[in-house]
Amino acid sequence: MHMFSGISINEFRGKFTTEDDCLRYILDKKLADGYSCSKCQHGQYGKGRKWHYLRCKKCGYDASATAGTLFHKCKLGLLKAFEIAFRISVRKKGMSSCELAKEFGCQQRSAWLWKAKIQEAMKSSGKHALSGDVEVDEFLVGGFSAGQPGRSHGSKDLVVLAIEKVKDKNDKITIGRAYCRVIDDASADSLKKIFDEHIAPQASVKTDGWRGYWPLGKDWNITKEKSDKGAGFPMLHIHIMNIKGWLRGVHHQCETHRLQQYLDEYHFRFNRRGFLSSIFDKLITKMTLAKPISYKMIKCELNT
Ligand SMILES: [Zn+2]
Repeated sequence: MHMFSGISINEFRGKFTTEDDCLRYILDKKLADGYSCSKCQHGQYGKGRKWHYLRCKKCGYDASATAGTLFHKCKLGLLKAFEIAFRISVRKKGMSSCELAKEFGCQQRSAWLWKAKIQEAMKSSGKHALSGDVEVDEFLVGGFSAGQPGRSHGSKDLVVLAIEKVKDKNDKITIGRAYCRVIDDASADSLKKIFDEHIAPQASVKTDGWRGYWPLGKDWNITKEKSDKGAGFPMLHIHIMNIKGWLRGVHHQCETHRLQQYLDEYHFRFNRRGFLSSIFDKLITKMTLAKPISYKMIKCELNT
């Protein structure tokens, strides 16, 4: 099956009209790198109890296309689930679970849970580290609560951001990719997490003079630059403003306690903004390869 590369809702609805269309797409993704039985890792399968089931030729384990994926036990129905994933991935600002519930006529809890699962697949794989001119800084996010957009609500969360500066096709400096991580404090140990996950040792990194970065100079090539309240890092600070604006604008009416997941969602789209026609396919691929999670597991994440 060819990758679906449509970016309009009409193209989407032309391609996916039944549950079977979605099942076939998931099955294709699952088999893209060959079959492996989830019970015994055997590499050959035969016909299962239904057309979208694969039965292991060795142990006989018969599993549906959705088994072992984030689509497992999806109560919304696959067609709706696919359309929500499509809307969230191609819309520049995504959609809040409140908007989704209204538009798709489902309970907010169902929309919230499905969106949380989509966000799970939007986590960075950490495989494509930033390696050129990188800038890193921290910022505070918080105080969003129902009815009080942007108002401080006591505790704020600290986030560290890394951006890579690249030249666009007109030779103008712009942001290539970016990553964010929620951290407990601005100590070297906490800051190191984003370096470990997203910054290659050969990158040339610019930070402000904060001493938390000093010990990291052992493993990364770091230069200090005066921040001057953000003026020393104009691009980075525009990016921070955009993130904050997005969190406030689209999500002030809903929960923002899962800040890391929201930041992952933001950057999943941001880092693929030049590849809009493959973003939905990429998301479905990641959702098929990700392990299933339940409402309970997501709630547990909240409490840790
Ligand atoms: Zn098996």
